[in-house]
Amino acid sequence: MKKFVLAALIACAGSAMAADGAKWTYAGEGGPDQWAKLTPDNFACAGKNQSPVDIKGAVHAGLKPLKMDYKAAGNEVLNNGHTLQVNFAPGSTLQLDGTQFELKQYHFHAPSENLVNGQSYPLEVHLVHADKDGNLAVIGVMFKEGAENKALKALWPQLPKEANAKNALTAPLSAASLLPAKHAYFRFSGSLTTPPCSEGVRWLVMKNPVTVSKEQLAAFEGILHHANNRPVQSLNGRVIVD
Ligand SMILES: [Zn+2]
Repeated sequence: MKKFVLAALIACAGSAMAADGAKWTYAGEGGPDQWAKLTPDNFACAGKNQSPVDIKGAVHAGLKPLKMDYKAAGNEVLNNGHTLQVNFAPGSTLQLDGTQFELKQYHFHAPSENLVNGQSYPLEVHLVHADKDGNLAVIGVMFKEGAENKALKALWPQLPKEANAKNALTAPLSAASLLPAKHAYFRFSGSLTTPPCSEGVRWLVMKNPVTVSKEQLAAFEGILHHANNRPVQSLNGRVIVD
């Protein structure tokens, strides 16, 4: 299980090809409803604890405030054909469940993958953390259309326009500037939203969106050329807490 998760984390920063060469996409022959069949490695894509989900009916559980300590350690941005991703040097941490998770990378989905009470947002960022055993925790933040986003303003001009290209960032970035002012959040168990769809991922989705301008959205969409959101998956009895 943990080998799969680690492999997925690497795959996320790597190529579009699975081990056997089966190519996954967001539409058509290699689309989401085919992911589980493309290679045996993708068996989890047909699992019962998959992401993304429609976040609704949260049970109040008095979740503890999240403890992040983010450093300006994002040092390169990658276009892997599926998303645009900022990779981090070690040192940015999330304390969760008595364990330290390290921020590895963040990447974007347009439109959002998770929904909140049935509502889609034009953009969602996923901050991907791993503990020393390879267990994953992802913080999701929704963007609604509005004022220009200052954090994206620094990043957007540096996005590689070609797939499988990466750029060193001119100045290191912190993930802290992507978070809303208030950190109230939903929590649930889910999976990676791309093959191999490994489960056991701790999902933490911020309740409050941040803003992105129409121009910033258009710039992102102009680089990726296609939507990169997996459709929402059934909760299958999972409980969302807040
Ligand atoms: Zn993602």
